[in-house]
Amino acid sequence: MFLTISTTGTHERPATDLGFLLHKHPDKAQAFSTSHGTAHVLYPEASAERCTAALLLEIDPVTLVRRGKGKGKGRGGAPDAVLAQYVNDRPYAASSLLAVALSTVFKSALRGVCAARPERAAEPLPLRIEVPAVPARGGAELVRALFGPLGWTTVDVRPVVLDETFPAWGDSRYVQLVLEGELRLVDALRQLYVLLPVLDDAKHYWVAPDEVEKLLRAGEGWLAGHPERQLITNRYLKRRWSLTREATERLELVRLAEADDIGVEAIDNAVDDPAPDDEESGTAEKTEKTVSLADQRREAILTALRDAGAASVLDLGCGQGQLVQALLKDVRFGKVVGVDVSVRALTVAARRLKTERMSERQAERVALIQGSLTYTDKRLKGYDAAVLSEVIEHLDLPRLPALEYAVFGTARPATVVVTTPNVEYNVRWETLPAGHVRHRDHRFEWTRAEFRAWADAVAARHGYAVRYVPVGPDDPEVGPPTQMAVFTIAATDTKKEEKAA
Ligand code: SAH
Repeated sequence: MFLTISTTGTHERPATDLGFLLHKHPDKAQAFSTSHGTAHVLYPEASAERCTAALLLEIDPVTLVRRGKGKGKGRGGAPDAVLAQYVNDRPYAASSLLAVALSTVFKSALRGVCAARPERAAEPLPLRIEVPAVPARGGAELVRALFGPLGWTTVDVRPVVLDETFPAWGDSRYVQLVLEGELRLVDALRQLYVLLPVLDDAKHYWVAPDEVEKLLRAGEGWLAGHPERQLITNRYLKRRWSLTREATERLELVRLAEADDIGVEAIDNAVDDPAPDDEESGTAEKTEKTVSLADQRREAILTALRDAGAASVLDLGCGQGQLVQALLKDVRFGKVVGVDVSVRALTVAARRLKTERMSERQAERVALIQGSLTYTDKRLKGYDAAVLSEVIEHLDLPRLPALEYAVFGTARPATVVVTTPNVEYNVRWETLPAGHVRHRDHRFEWTRAEFRAWADAVAARHGYAVRYVPVGPDDPEVGPPTQMAVFTIAATDTKKEEKAA
């Protein structure tokens, strides 16, 4: 099984940067053992102008069959079936196993992480990907339908004939695939990681429940809007109904959010892995890093929640889970739920919280769920408080009423804390060019007056009282860097609601 990734470059932007992006040095041939054989990475060519990395997976078909046997299925009685098990195509065809190898060997690249060349990882590169033998159930047509909508300028699919000497036998079920275009390497790798097994459609091994997470993570940015998403989901999850249903529902959430144009940008921002001791790296507010405004914001939010006596808290648009983590440190918060539309953000949050290693008691206190805040969601009802920390500015203004309705009109926690940048303060950021917002995905940034006008109106419409708290140094002229509104449900409304309940 074989796959090559090539790129071109110049003296200033050498093609050999590919080595950094893949985390594999072009001068070395390396071997890695994977669950089904040995994966080799080598560079047939590596110059500033052209660089090609090859991934070669050596499979031991016998081990593979033996392994498969252990999983419960017998050998089958017919002699042919026995033979087929030993003479199978696994060693030659790019397939599910190549995808597994990709994820083992290019783990960091698949996460889009590259400390050495972050700017190269974030930008599209001229790429050429070649896979000489892709088993394609569904034929060349399907291969085109799958890769066609993904931004490649060339999707060249050639059926491989079954036998050169007997052309009349027709085509085999393999195709030769060449993709060319300007894409980010991470996107190209994620597409292959999902689509090679989808094309293979092998029934070899069982699907673990966390495959849904893997699919959604690898599919971020391209799968939700893909015309063939249902076929991709069904095949990837081996038609396991409960899994495909979950994946389909969650992809629909993402699709709706994307249709709202919350922006893949917003999602991607939430994605970078935070360095262990540097909470802020990778979060949206790079310019605020030096003053650690984020810490002050978290403290202000915690204070507001404690003052309100909240015991159960929703962190809406929780991103990478820093606030969830802070909330869990205080036993007063008996139930903490982080909600975000980005699977990737939630994955990072789960890693941060070490949810896998939590005690049962701790695990019962916390949940991370995928949800879209511009749609009403009954899972969000019944909490004492909700936080929207640096979230509203990521929505397009016309979608704000939908969020307002979902949070203040439907979920209706007794307390809602909202923070957002104060645009007046931007002149005080030395690193921020005049007239710029603090982050490229901010759809708007409000003055104090604008924020208050919005919050006052929301409070009036939904029966809340609202007070304003400055966060960060309160500049006499331009106000604080972060503005915070604390909404509390009016007493009369609480009574009305109790009656209704
Ligand atoms: N609350 C965090 C993260 C703010 S970044 C903090 O204070 O640091 C904004 C987050 O909101 C991102 O994680 C983004 O994925 C999420 N988000 C944006 N629009 C959303 C929507 N419509 N539904 C759910 N989450 C959304």
